[in-house]
Amino acid sequence: MCGTCGCEETRAHPETVSMEQRVLAKNDHLAEHNRNWLRGREILAVNLMSSPGSGKTTLLERAIADLRHEVPLAVIEGDQATPVDADRIHATGCVAIQVNTGAGCHLDAGMLAGALEALDPRPGSVVFVENVGNLVCPALFDLGEDHRAVVMSVTEGADKPLKYPHMFRTADVVLLNKVDLLPYVDFDPGRFSRQLSQVNPVAEVLAVSATRGDGMATWYSWLRARQQVFAERVAR
Ligand code: MG
Ligand code: ZN
Repeated sequence: MCGTCGCEETRAHPETVSMEQRVLAKNDHLAEHNRNWLRGREILAVNLMSSPGSGKTTLLERAIADLRHEVPLAVIEGDQATPVDADRIHATGCVAIQVNTGAGCHLDAGMLAGALEALDPRPGSVVFVENVGNLVCPALFDLGEDHRAVVMSVTEGADKPLKYPHMFRTADVVLLNKVDLLPYVDFDPGRFSRQLSQVNPVAEVLAVSATRGDGMATWYSWLRARQQVFAERVAR
């Protein structure tokens, strides 16, 4: 838990709880501001969350190559340090901005507000927010996004949904990445599905390989459907 002692026993630390509640309340207020900002411009924002190395940036590189002529895209890259991921996105020709959080371990709504102002995505865009690689606290911080996608690679093991329930509970869709590696790793898809349905019975699971291309069309269909629902809601 960010900004706290990390202790699970919240009753023993009332001052910590109230500080954390204040931080989250301020964040939620800014997230609502972001949501209105995005809706006013008919921009669909998708928050991509995962542990480090799950393949978020590779997934985005491929999606950009496949979708860029269909819809305007923009990317906000969150990492503790370096512009490496934003450089990779820039190399595809897509607009992108890097947010470095320093010692911070997640993006918050204030950081997203600054990034949106600076990036100024075209109305009607899809904005992908690649959060800091971390399966814990990014789940707590509403950014004002419309959807949350959790990316998990088969190399991470099937036991992650029960170990990181807050992250998996918050997902609208789970992209199970690197399925091209299934023959080489000890990953039990049935166990993963059972664990996920315990914490989140409604999240869709899409099996993909960002490097080989498997399942990417189903991810694009998911995005198109979400964009259609979003456009209808904004038009009302
Ligand atoms: Mg990345
Ligand atoms: Zn954090």
